[in-house]
Amino acid sequence: MQQPWLPAKWDREADVVIVGFGGAGAAAAITAHDLGAKVLLLEKAPEGEEGGNTRVAGQGYLYVSDVDKAVTYLNAMCGHFEIPQDMARVWAHEVHRNNAWVSAIGGDPQEHQHPPVGIEFPDLPGSDCVRKYHNGDVLGYSQTWAFFEKSVKQRRVEVLYETPARELIQDGISREILGVRAERDGKPVFIKARKAVILTCGGFENNQEMIRNYLPGLPYCYTSGSPYNEGDGVRMGLMVGADLWHMNNYAGPSMALKVPEYRTTFSLTPLHFSHEQPGGMIVVGPDASRFCNEKLKTMHGKIRKHGKWVPSPVPCPMFLLFDHAVFSSGPLYDKKPVSGWGRIIERYDWSEDNVAELERGWITRAPTIPELARGIGLDPAALGATVARWNASCASGKDEDFARTIMLTPFGRGPYYAIELSPSMLNTQGGPRRNAKAQVVRPDDTPIPRLYSAGELGSIYSYMYQGTGNIGECLAFGRISARNAVAETPWDKG
Ligand SMILES: Cc1cc2nc3c(=O)[nH]c(=O)nc-3n(C[C@H](O)[C@H](O)[C@H](O)COP(=O)(O)OP(=O)(O)OC[C@H]3O[C@@H](n4cnc5c(N)ncnc54)[C@H](O)[C@@H]3O)c2cc1C
Repeated sequence: MQQPWLPAKWDREADVVIVGFGGAGAAAAITAHDLGAKVLLLEKAPEGEEGGNTRVAGQGYLYVSDVDKAVTYLNAMCGHFEIPQDMARVWAHEVHRNNAWVSAIGGDPQEHQHPPVGIEFPDLPGSDCVRKYHNGDVLGYSQTWAFFEKSVKQRRVEVLYETPARELIQDGISREILGVRAERDGKPVFIKARKAVILTCGGFENNQEMIRNYLPGLPYCYTSGSPYNEGDGVRMGLMVGADLWHMNNYAGPSMALKVPEYRTTFSLTPLHFSHEQPGGMIVVGPDASRFCNEKLKTMHGKIRKHGKWVPSPVPCPMFLLFDHAVFSSGPLYDKKPVSGWGRIIERYDWSEDNVAELERGWITRAPTIPELARGIGLDPAALGATVARWNASCASGKDEDFARTIMLTPFGRGPYYAIELSPSMLNTQGGPRRNAKAQVVRPDDTPIPRLYSAGELGSIYSYMYQGTGNIGECLAFGRISARNAVAETPWDKG
């Protein structure tokens, strides 16, 4: 008798089905293929937009020079948000093997300082084990990703593009994962996974409901990464009984411009800590007051307060305000395509003089500060007082409110300008909880048979984050998940 959870017929089959062709998916696919498995990759994006956040990342991946120090550093970053020690150890051990693996598959690991991310928490014990590598000697420009993508293609691993996984097919009695229901051209495609499914479909950066539910205090947030990461792995995991972890952790917030015409955020040059703008620039919240040191370099969104690292404040709506000297000093958008979906994939051509963006309504202009306040819905008197206070701070050379030391430049002549800012992030860290074998587990710690995961979907990072750690973890858990998936006995064998 046909079991009710099985489709009438399978459209495709493979030993290992991998959901999501980013860094973790690539590492898992290469590993599983090289161990002799037949692998099928499902990718939601159309060909040319695959690669997820990995493709548009700064391209650095973590390698650690010493396993014990790495365990110490990771535990110190997690702080009160503790993780199981077998996980910390397996992470450190496998990240330590990243360079050997990249070399073994024909890559060229090169150590880089990976600016602007250094060792993010040098005061924490063990931090001196951190090394940041790229494939090849070019920084950014999808360089590391291109090598992984090429390695997958050389192995002739089949990738089904524009075929999002929608649901895991689970045996109603044994609870094993038997395959995936994907979708293509609006029709279901049933894909049998003889050994296992590996979820590598990224986070929930583009799922506003999950953002409101899981990220602390954020009414909305947008990403500078892939628009295709919509929390599908979280939803599919929940539907088959997975526990979740690290759902409230993310690489953010920062502040950026998000416009309806584009799917991801624009990072604005005046907010870069190293950018020197010639005029007055501050950021205010809905009460027209400043709420941060606008030029502070955060540690992936965390700032130090009262001796603790906490998320930067983002009281929405927030506004970047500046004078005409800033407006006329060159593009307000960093046009160098080193990383970020907008820069690498969509490549909006921001005008040199910012006039096109003014005309599009992305920038608001007014001859005076009170008129600007009215134009953006703020209290004119309050905004006037904030600008006056800022100008006084610049005159005295001391920002008593937020200790900003970079570009203490007063507002000069009008007209004046405002851009509404949104909270922005690189990526989320939460998802189905996995164990040291990369098996997805239920709330009682038991694994869901034949279901694995890797990458930022349920990453190991519970609180503070060391830059390059995500791709470093993709490679590590991509390999672990694939080794264990390939070691499974096919469920359809008798
Ligand atoms: C601008 C930027 C810079 C960064 N720089 C760095 C850096 O230098 N170093 C570092 O370590 N980290 C960096 N990060 C973070 C890092 O890029 C990601 O955390 C990491 O690449 C995630 O890899 P992944 O394989 O887990 O997911 P992704 O690379 O995001 O891949 C997920 C894939 O799954 C696909 N997908 C989604 N849903 C489905 C579905 N239902 N079915 C099938 N496919 C699906 C997506 O289209 C995507 O291709 C950066 C992030 C950004 C945005």
